[in-house]
Amino acid sequence: KGSISPLRKINKVINSYAIARQKEIDTLQKNAEFRREFIADISHELKTPIFATQGYIHTLLDGAIDDKQVRMRFLKRAAKSLDSLDILVQDLLTLNQMESGVIKFTFTEFDLKELIEEVMEELEHKAFKRDMNLEFEVDPGKTYLTNGDRQKIYRVCQNLIFNAMKYNHNGGEVKISMTTHKNSIQVDVKDDGQGIPPEDLKRIFERFYRVEKSRNKKDGGTGLGLAIVKHILEGHKSKISVSSTVGKGSIFSFSLPLVKIDTPEDKLKVITH
Ligand code: ADP
Repeated sequence: KGSISPLRKINKVINSYAIARQKEIDTLQKNAEFRREFIADISHELKTPIFATQGYIHTLLDGAIDDKQVRMRFLKRAAKSLDSLDILVQDLLTLNQMESGVIKFTFTEFDLKELIEEVMEELEHKAFKRDMNLEFEVDPGKTYLTNGDRQKIYRVCQNLIFNAMKYNHNGGEVKISMTTHKNSIQVDVKDDGQGIPPEDLKRIFERFYRVEKSRNKKDGGTGLGLAIVKHILEGHKSKISVSSTVGKGSIFSFSLPLVKIDTPEDKLKVITH
């Protein structure tokens, strides 16, 4: 009793080896499945703008080109479809580079308040078209200096604010606010739009995941925006969080480090000590 026979020992080793091999096979199968799904998703997404462009061009070739007005309208639409194809391919490349860790983050110190104001300026005309109210709540006396990759954080804010507008009703409201904590700045993007059902909440950061696919399609999103947001924030050791109520709206939040600047009073204190 107590000692294991050599045969049982061998059996044990073989068993643990078999379990490890099975785990490896499972991972490989999962990877293959993931790749298949991803390729199916991409093909599906690429088809939409390609079909549309093909349609316009063939109709033009079939005779519509002779009518000046129709010609202009169809060419404009074909150009728009190609633009969305371009955005989709760019997003895919960005995401791919981020996931494989190739993309570099260039960290600098910058004013987060200024950056959000720039994003809001860029989106202002879209808000105006839909009679929406874009609001920014900040403390004017404070500095919101942070450290990060400015270009990529611009993308984060652009995606979140644009989504808050897209999944909202005409005349809706988007409120962006910043609060400073001890070592961080928190950004909240709040909308009073359609909201997200609880079962979809944890999946919206997956690539190509959309709540109610057909309805969102017409807004021209790539379904990659939030996946990109998540990766960019991970590159800043930060996370995106969301809370949402169907029919009431959503709040997307993230934090970045707060860079403290020496105020003259601080310097004075050091001297008098
Ligand atoms: P898309 O290009 O479709 O906007 P995203 O990755 O940015 O892709 O968002 C994924 C999905 O999450 C959207 O299709 C939409 O269903 C949902 N979503 C994102 N932001 C909001 C929001 N502010 N309100 C409601 N739904 C949202």
